[in-house]
Amino acid sequence: MVSDFSKYSLVIGRFQPLHMGHMEVIRKCADESEHLTIGIGSAQYSHTTENPFTAGERYLMIEETLKAEGITNYSIVPVEDLNRYSVWVSHVVSMCPPFACVYSNNPFTKRLFTEAGFDVKASPLYNRAMYSGTEVRRRMIADEDWQSLVPPAVVTVIDKIDGVGRLKSFNGKDAEL
Ligand code: ATP
Ligand code: MG
Repeated sequence: MVSDFSKYSLVIGRFQPLHMGHMEVIRKCADESEHLTIGIGSAQYSHTTENPFTAGERYLMIEETLKAEGITNYSIVPVEDLNRYSVWVSHVVSMCPPFACVYSNNPFTKRLFTEAGFDVKASPLYNRAMYSGTEVRRRMIADEDWQSLVPPAVVTVIDKIDGVGRLKSFNGKDAEL
């Protein structure tokens, strides 16, 4: 990697939706990096129980939250899945601004980027029992407090698109097309 980009970093997640755990990592990485790329993984999926929100909706959640927090040294890049793991890193690289460092605690992501020669840094999990996309979606369906697990700007975006209504309308099942 070209040394000029040695302080350019990547974090990648599905952000279904963006929650406080993601934000802990994003804040830390944006602070430590000259530039942070936030990759929106599984970008092609939406309207399923695991992936209710579109890449564009997730983009807006991230953008509005970072604006509210005054973070400006970032890019957001939607990245579609590629079901061929041996070339996944090249695929991510082809879509994103240059980066030298990857923050992840996903063993699979860590392994693939390490093999490709990137500097992979561990990112600790914050309050994982509460701060997980699965828990946020569970609470939305159960009419429990999900709002306290996500940044205020995410609540606004989800309310505007009736995200909870969308998730509930699937009734726990994905579409059969
Ligand atoms: P889901 O339950 O839908 O899989 P998730 O909470 O695991 O959601 P993802 O969108 O899958 O979040 O993104 C995964 C990445 O987000 C992880 O590799 C990790 O780096 C980061 N992440 C997720 N939850 C936390 C957390 N509580 N603290 C810190 N980082 C987190
Ligand atoms: Mg996950």
